[in-house]
Formats: sequence, C-alpha cells, structure tokens
Amino acid sequence: MITVMKFGGTSVGSPEALQRAAKIIMDGAGSKIVVASAMSGITNFLVKGAESLPDSRNNIIGEFEKKHVDAAGQLLNGEQMAEFMKEFNIRMKNFGDLLEDEAAAKDPYFKDNITSQGERFSTLILSHALRAAGARSVALTSEDCGICAEGSPLSGSADLQRTESIMAMKVKPYVDDGVIPIITGFYGINGDGRPLTFGRGGSDYSAAVVANAMNADLLEIWTDVDGFMSADPRIIPDAVKIDEMNFGEAAELAYFGAKVLHPRTIEPVRMKHIPLKVRNSFNPEEPGTIIHHLRKPKDDLLRSVALKTDLSIISISSAEIAFHPEMVARIIEKIAENEVVIYSISTSLSTVAFLVHNNDVKSILSKLNTLDPEDIERIDVKSDMALVCAVGDNLLSKCGVSAEIFTAVKEARANVAMISEGASDVSLNFVVPMSRATDVVKILHSKYVGSGSDERL
Ligand code: ASP
Ligand code: MG
Repeated sequence: MITVMKFGGTSVGSPEALQRAAKIIMDGAGSKIVVASAMSGITNFLVKGAESLPDSRNNIIGEFEKKHVDAAGQLLNGEQMAEFMKEFNIRMKNFGDLLEDEAAAKDPYFKDNITSQGERFSTLILSHALRAAGARSVALTSEDCGICAEGSPLSGSADLQRTESIMAMKVKPYVDDGVIPIITGFYGINGDGRPLTFGRGGSDYSAAVVANAMNADLLEIWTDVDGFMSADPRIIPDAVKIDEMNFGEAAELAYFGAKVLHPRTIEPVRMKHIPLKVRNSFNPEEPGTIIHHLRKPKDDLLRSVALKTDLSIISISSAEIAFHPEMVARIIEKIAENEVVIYSISTSLSTVAFLVHNNDVKSILSKLNTLDPEDIERIDVKSDMALVCAVGDNLLSKCGVSAEIFTAVKEARANVAMISEGASDVSLNFVVPMSRATDVVKILHSKYVGSGSDERL
C-alpha cells in the first residue's frame, strides 16, 4: 500500500509543526511518499521580495536562511545539523546565484523559479527531521523526480503521462527500498527544464499529481482544518464537517469557493479512483473528510453551500447571437487570450453573459473592444456579485428542488442574476449581489444542509 501524504504551509510552518508532521508520517502504515509546501509565510515573502530585486537580494537571503536554519537547529542535534547543512548549503548557493543572475531575471519563468525556493528548503528540513527520528528518508526536488509541467508562467499544469514514466524510474526505487521521499510541492519542470509553478496553493495539486504518477492507494492532504465543511464557518458558526463526499461534489466545492483544497487537486486522483482524505495535522485524532468514487447517497438535500465573492457579469448583446455560434466562439476566444477564469456562461437569443472575477473586467473589456463593432450592440457589466454553489447529490434527481432553493433565496430578498443548473449533476450555482449573499447562504444552510429532503418535497 502506497500513501501520498501532503503537508501544507502551516503543517510545516514551525519546528513544532514539523515535529508533528514527522510523527504523522512515521505512524502512517505501508509505503509513504511525502509532498510539502513551503513553511507558512515564505512564499508570500518570496513573491514580495522578487518585486524589488536586485535591492532586496541580501535581505531575502538573510531572512530566508535564518528562518530555515533556526527551525532545523531546533529539531536536529549537532551531528544531524552538520549533515543537514551540507545539503542546505548546496541549495542555498543555487538560490543565491539565481538572485544574482541578470540573464535569469529576464526569463519569463524567473518568478516561478524564485517562488519555488521555499519548498526546496521545507522538504529538506522535514526529511532530516525524519532521519533524526530514525526513518530512512531522502529530500527530492521536482527536478530530481521528473514532475513535468507545461503552460504559461505561474499557471502550469502537470503532464501526467511523462511524470508517471519518469517517477517510475527516479522515485519508485526509493519507495521499494523502504526510503521515504520528501518531494517539493508547488512546481514542476517545463520542457526547457525550468521551474513552472502550479498557481498559489498548488502543492495540493502537486500531491495529487504524485499520487497519480505513483499509482498510490491513498492521498492524504494534511492541513490545519478538520476537513470540508458544510459552509464557511466565518459565515455559519454551526457549520458541520462533512465526513464523506464523492469526487464530483468535492471538485465543485473546491472550484467554487471552499478554500480547503486547490481546485485542481481532484482530477489527477479521480482519474485513477484514488481516494483522498483531508486531515488536520493539528488534530490527527479527527478522521477528516474522505473523498472517493462512490458514496452511499444520503437523503439530505444539500451537503454544503459555498460562496465565491468579487465577481462580475459581463453581458454582450448582439442581434440573434444564438444563430451565430461563430460569433460566440470569437468572443470566447478574445476573453481566453487573457487567460482569465470564466466561472459561468449563459446565453439567450441575443445575449451571452460571462461570470468572471471583478479584477479581470478591465482587461476583458479592452479585448472585447477589439471585436468588430458591427457584431456587438452593447456590453453591460454588473460588478460585486457573488456565486452561490449549492452542492448535493439529490439536486437533479428529486423534482422540485430548485423551486425549494429559490423560494429560500427569495426569503433573503436576493435577486438572482444568473443561474447554472444541469451543467454538473451535483451542484446548483446561481449569482446574487454580494450584499445579499451571506444571507442566502445562512438561509439555505439552516433549511437544507443535513436535513432529510423526503419530508420536504
Ligand atoms: N507555497 C505555495 C503557496 O503558498 C504552494 C502551496 O502552499 O500550496 O502558494
Ligand atoms: Mg493550501
């Protein structure tokens, strides 16, 4: 049995956290492969530092080195520390050289390279902490493992097939030999051998890619909360932890607002039916949430309600757009040039509406303005909207569910500006003004989450 265990920033963020992570790893059954984030705060520190290079160079090196050496110093004895420092100094020298390299600074992937540094050091400390605790362990970078990535700077995707064939050669022998590899999360290597990050929070996705590549039996994401919740506890204080979900439900929730997992984590494990557990490294007794292929359907109408705020609806009107699919294609192509995320699309005879982030509106409008003015009659923008994502596996199979839900929305005196139902069979998504959104979530949660739907419908 192979388990891939991923530890997030707070779970490796201090000597105590690293010690807890080491114990969880040692206690785990079977073969283990670990993926870790940078120590908490480090990636933000690097992102900021990169903005003011070269002036910030000495400050970056000084603070970065101190933070990691201090943490290691509290976990390792003199002899172990000397061993650690050998590898640490090699990695630190590479990092220092990178910050001085003027040619590298002009590379489009330079920021990926800088921001991926945190993972290279947190994994090194964790690996040495495991050795100090008596395990056999090796710290491997994404370069060492062959985690292959493709795509534009700061938003890479993994090449799963190549990663699988290289990891079989580079990582499997360690696992077969009983050695625990500790692998850098957050980035892979592009076709030119340069680091390419998977977007902020991307170590969860890295771990799913590793689980896929190694054909793991289980992926455990160790974080600082007990699991997926039925709503954001800051909005709903009595939100409850969800024990079990299927991949579809978890993917929708992660994508549309629940912050527990990077939204792309589900796909690589779902493809191979590898179960995923979300666990709390600060509370390892808690079993967390299990996400797997099949889940016995329950009677509750909704499992969870997530909220994504700061969105805008851009509506483009044009005569009989419905009869001109090529025009819709041209509009989408224009929007896609900016690599923005489109959260929802809806069309009518003469309008097509897109739901995007508030921050992307300006750049999208400037792209749309380059379209043939004959094609477009009008563009309207509604900003400060929120997307409510109601997830439950009975949503489409029971009749009258949407009516129930929209009646509840009416009680919150919210106007629904856009609806998407049926695109996914486990979620009903709709857009309301941000000012009403938390009330909508409160009402839906109190009425339908965890409640048996049969007696209602
Ligand atoms: N360290 C990276 C970040 O802060 C990746 C991660 O933590 O998942 O975004
Ligand atoms: Mg995270």
